[in-house]
Amino acid sequence: AKQKGKDHFQFYVASIDQEIRDRKQLETDLSKALSLNQLHLVYQPQINLETKRVIGAEALLRWEHPVRGLVPPDYFIPVAENNGSIVGIGQWVLEQACLQAKLWADKGLPLRIAVNLSAVQLHQNTIVDDILGTLKRYDIPAGRLELEVTETSFMTNMSDAVAKLHTLNRAGISLAVDDFGTGYSSLTYLKKMPVQHLKIDKQFIRDLLVNKEDTRITNTIIDLGRSLNLTVVAEGVETAEQEYYLTQRGCKLAQGYFFSKPLRPADFETFVQEFHEK
Ligand code: C2E
Ligand code: CA
Ligand code: CA
Ligand code: CA
Repeated sequence: AKQKGKDHFQFYVASIDQEIRDRKQLETDLSKALSLNQLHLVYQPQINLETKRVIGAEALLRWEHPVRGLVPPDYFIPVAENNGSIVGIGQWVLEQACLQAKLWADKGLPLRIAVNLSAVQLHQNTIVDDILGTLKRYDIPAGRLELEVTETSFMTNMSDAVAKLHTLNRAGISLAVDDFGTGYSSLTYLKKMPVQHLKIDKQFIRDLLVNKEDTRITNTIIDLGRSLNLTVVAEGVETAEQEYYLTQRGCKLAQGYFFSKPLRPADFETFVQEFHEK
């Protein structure tokens, strides 16, 4: 039994060691990803459920690793947040998204682009100037940019977050609470933060019509949005039944595979054309 315990111990150490090396390698690779052109953005259409029009797009980051293939953002964003490289990457995302917004506007597609802003980015001293400066350089009206922030951003340093988000919002940028209901939700945040949109996390939408709790949580968020005058966005809509339910229940905006997965810009343009012809 002793022997077995020892083996187990060694196995444990070896696997942790492997994990640390893996992660170090990932960090090294990620630090070069930008300059090696391995990052790109895809855009997921956001649909107005009443008018059935595409009103905007969420920009989502993709990393094409030469060996590992496509690395999911849920895996590498936390790494980038941990070592600070999210600051440079996030700025690049913002610039790419603004460039795309400009290209689309020039083609007669004045879409609002939603960009995910990490808590680490929000708490940078220069973030407000960085964002406003980028809009100016790319000649994008502030109303065409939406920033998606999670409740984590409010927790770390609430007064700092409030001050910065107020400045950004006063400049005309709209703000969404992402993954609403999954973090440390507090109604105090909603009262203090100048937000306009609540995004219902896809974990509540997935079993919306199967699981009673999910139905009630979704209903509650929609009602909360209505009473606080916030636009509610459902993410992860995958079926016609979910779309129908959300529309009837008064949810204003939706995104999800039922409409489209996140797309490269050219495919996005084709999608909009075909969707509006229907
Ligand atoms: P998120 O902001 O909550 O984004 C929604 C995720 O749901 C995206 O995953 C999207 O591709 C996926 N999704 C969309 N429709 C459906 C659907 O119908 N069903 C299902 N099952 N999933 C759907 P993705 O692109 O893998 O991104 C994962 C997370 O990574 C994002 O979650 C966001 O937190 C983070 N992320 C992505 N891009 C960026 C970025 O540029 N900056 C930062 N800070 N975070 C990012
Ligand atoms: Ca998001
Ligand atoms: Ca989410
Ligand atoms: Ca998220």
